[in-house]
Amino acid sequence: METYIQISNLNDFIFCPRSIYFHQLFGKISTTMYHTESQIRGKAAHEAIDEQNYTTRKNVLQGMEVYCQKYGLCGKIDIYDQDERALTERKKHIEVIYDGYVFQIYAQYFCLTEMGYSVEHLLFYSSDTNKKYNVKLPKDDPEMFAKFEKLIEDMNNCNLNQFNQTNAEKCKHCVYAALCDQALC
Ligand code: SF4
Repeated sequence: METYIQISNLNDFIFCPRSIYFHQLFGKISTTMYHTESQIRGKAAHEAIDEQNYTTRKNVLQGMEVYCQKYGLCGKIDIYDQDERALTERKKHIEVIYDGYVFQIYAQYFCLTEMGYSVEHLLFYSSDTNKKYNVKLPKDDPEMFAKFEKLIEDMNNCNLNQFNQTNAEKCKHCVYAALCDQALC
């Protein structure tokens, strides 16, 4: 059976592959059990999108399920404006555009383009500050594109049973530390 990588797992994998297991395990349970306050605020910013409430414009697709066969990805986009050919990912607060953010929007981009949509602009929107941040398309940023492909390869080859976290700082800040038998703290 073909397995797909959840787009939302790309960032988790970069943080720690083990965290994906906990994310999936507790995904259906009340998130207040283990989410930090900032995660809950960020989630609230997404809920308007997931519930497709963000806008009623017909040419704006929101929270749509997407798939990419080439990279074996599936997930949801945030907002795609068909007129502007712009794919936007909203976040509650953005201070730094982390690589994980970029890889997630790349993943959405590859899904949309494989599904036949034209995407010319990638953006992040910080709702706290009402700021937009442009991200180059993968074809215009070969270094990030190569990193993205390496990440997908690493995720496909990862064996969780053989993975051991070596960065204690990550465990110290991990919301799953109390549940994880591999926690280094
Ligand atoms: S506690 Fe450490 S090893 Fe466990 S999921 Fe978190 S970061 Fe990974």
